[in-house]
Amino acid sequence: MPTLNALPDQKPRSIAFDCYRTLVSNDHADWKVMFGRIIKEQNLPFEQDDLWDKWRKYELQFRANRTVLEDTSKSPPFKTYEWAWSDAFAKVFEDEGVSGDPAAAGRQCVEHLARRPLFPDTVPALQALIGRVRVGVFSNADEDSLRPLLKSTGIRFDAVCSSESTQVYKPAPEAFFAITKELGVSPERTWYVGDHLYDDVRGGNDFGLTTVWINRTGAKVGPDDAVPSIEINDLRDLPGIINSIGG
Ligand SMILES: [Mg+2]
Repeated sequence: MPTLNALPDQKPRSIAFDCYRTLVSNDHADWKVMFGRIIKEQNLPFEQDDLWDKWRKYELQFRANRTVLEDTSKSPPFKTYEWAWSDAFAKVFEDEGVSGDPAAAGRQCVEHLARRPLFPDTVPALQALIGRVRVGVFSNADEDSLRPLLKSTGIRFDAVCSSESTQVYKPAPEAFFAITKELGVSPERTWYVGDHLYDDVRGGNDFGLTTVWINRTGAKVGPDDAVPSIEINDLRDLPGIINSIGG
């Protein structure tokens, strides 16, 4: 059952979606497969988990530092994931005295992220919304990961923005500005649907959007988390919620 914390009094004119873990799955197991392949192809002296743990440390540093939310003009210069991930591999190889090809490994990560399974509710939910509202995507992703993946839905989106195309990562307000501008709809009449309480809900709330948290795992909103306007566990709940609004 959806949880309606703050339902707007008018129907949305546009709905924008996050991609990973909202429309498609992106599990640790998928990443492990990719790391196994990189190790094999480059003949690296690591176990999968060992390379993952060492690389992930640098990857998390990148995520933690890439956006200064209090003043985004103080954020460091934009880096794509391919760039940041290649850098992280380069640091691990240097730390361990290993000769490998960090650029090839970073490229493989981006390409691998273009192949993720759609959740079973994704296409039916999108099909039910297309034509009723403008439908868009803003994803923290490189173009070469995002575009092939969205093509696999068979859906013609009205607007697609990536962090790479806009040179900014959610939850920066510039990200939500970019997608509402592409959709041509005001923030008051736009919903943003995502799985992440910080990137998606906090960012969307701050920009004045109606936020929808897709909670597929039965997680709880913590005391320090942003509170979504609406909580669902299946994207197919969206049309019914829109129907229940009068305006
Ligand atoms: Mg996500």
